[in-house]
This record gives sequence, C-alpha cells and structure tokens, in this order.
Amino acid sequence: MLAHHFSVDVEEYFQVSAFEGRVPRARWDGLETRVAAAVERLLELLAVHGARATFFVLGWVAERQPRLVRAIVEAGHEVASHGWDHARVAVQGRSAFRSAARRSRQVLEDAASAPVVGFRAPSFSIQPGAEWALDVLIEEGYRYDSSLFPVRRPGYGYANGRREPHWIERPAGRIPEVPPATLRRWGLNLPAAGGAYFRLLPYALVRAALREHERRGVPGTFYVHPWELDPRQPRLAVPWWTRVRHYGGLARTEGRLRRLLAEFRFRPVLETVAELP
Ligand SMILES: [Zn+2]
Repeated sequence: MLAHHFSVDVEEYFQVSAFEGRVPRARWDGLETRVAAAVERLLELLAVHGARATFFVLGWVAERQPRLVRAIVEAGHEVASHGWDHARVAVQGRSAFRSAARRSRQVLEDAASAPVVGFRAPSFSIQPGAEWALDVLIEEGYRYDSSLFPVRRPGYGYANGRREPHWIERPAGRIPEVPPATLRRWGLNLPAAGGAYFRLLPYALVRAALREHERRGVPGTFYVHPWELDPRQPRLAVPWWTRVRHYGGLARTEGRLRRLLAEFRFRPVLETVAELP
C-alpha cells in the first residue's frame, strides 16, 4: 500500500497567522504554553497506528522546548523547520527569511541531534513572486520544501503549482517540492490536506483526495496543528470568521485523525524525497 505523508506544523495556539494583529510577538512569552501536551497526544495516536510523520517545528518553540523536539525524534519521526516566528515570507523579505531559515535549522538540529533538511513556510506563504525563497533554502542547505499549496485563493496558495512531489529548477539549483494534498474537481484544485478543511468539511473530502492520489500512484500530504487537538485552549477575542476557522470542529479532530490513521499508511516526507527520480 502506498504511504502518504502525515505532517504536523508545531506552533502554539496564539501563533497562527490569523491572530497576527491581535497577539503581538512581544506578548508571546507571557502566554500559557500548551503545545507540548498536544504534541504528546499526537505522538501517542501515531504510535498506536504505527504511523511515522514529519513535524515542521517553529524555531521559537524549539528554543524554549528542546526536549519536545528530542521526544519527536526518539519516537521515530522526522523533524523539519516551520521558520522562526511564523512571519510570512513576503513580509519578511529575503534577508530576514534567510536568517529565520538558518537559525531555526541550527536550533532544531541542536535539539534533535539529527539533521534537519525539510522546510514549510508559515501559512504556505511562498506565493507567486516569492520563489526567491526557494533559492535561499537551497543555499542554506535544505533538501526539500513543502510550502507551495496549489489552490487559488486571495492572498494564499500557489495557484498553478503541480499537485504531486516534483523537482523545481531555480537559479541556485534544484529542490524537491512536496505540496499539500488537493482534490481535483470541476476544473479546480480543492484544498483537501487538513487544517480547517479537515475539521469543518466532511471527512470524505480528505479521504477522496488521498484515494485519488493513490490511483495516480503519488503520495498525498496531510497536515494538522497541535492546537487543533486542544478544544480547551484559551479563546482569544477575534472576528467571527476567524473564530469559525480556528475554533470550529476542534472536538472532532481527534476522532477523525483516528479514522485517517486507520485507513491510510503514512511515512515522513524525507523518505519520499529520497526516492524521487
Ligand atoms: Zn503554521
């Protein structure tokens, strides 16, 4: 049976991009940390089903909780970078992006005592026009990227990207791209990789996407955040549309993950990358 990718973007409940204007970075250290308990829950679920995953961890989290990073590696999973402090790529610009990519990798490798070669930009923010970020990743020694979400939405995604793992040629060299899963319907790529779509839309959407990937003989990439398994996280005062996207269906996540892990086989992204022709 073909193995898909189960990926986790390891960040605190207050670090998501939708809260950016509400929770300034200067306040982060004063807020209750909840990420470790949720990651441990995920490690248990993965162990029960014999699944191995890739954890894209923020450098900010790794610096404060190196033992959590070590626990992920010791459980047999891959640790990769989710940048430093969840700043979007276009907002950062080239030199801040480079230092986030470099610093997060160093901190993660120190904590993991293992090489870190994968990258996922916060909020999949390598969008058309920001491809220079791939050059920076190549120059900084990363061996794959998982940031180009081939969906068309305002301010989000990489609309004309390919839907399966592939090589991207850049001035700095070439790098494998492993995009989050989509489902092709009505001439559109529907986001079917996880996150709010997994909690708010029927489970059948993600299942159909992974089955479609299997028919094409390519792995699909699923993602989830630790805070999605934490229905009791402190609620922040945000507009109703953000409330729905962030808090909707949190109580459903764990049951759906059990179903997903029972139905499909998963392995770390790096193992697919190593076999890419
Ligand atoms: Zn994130």
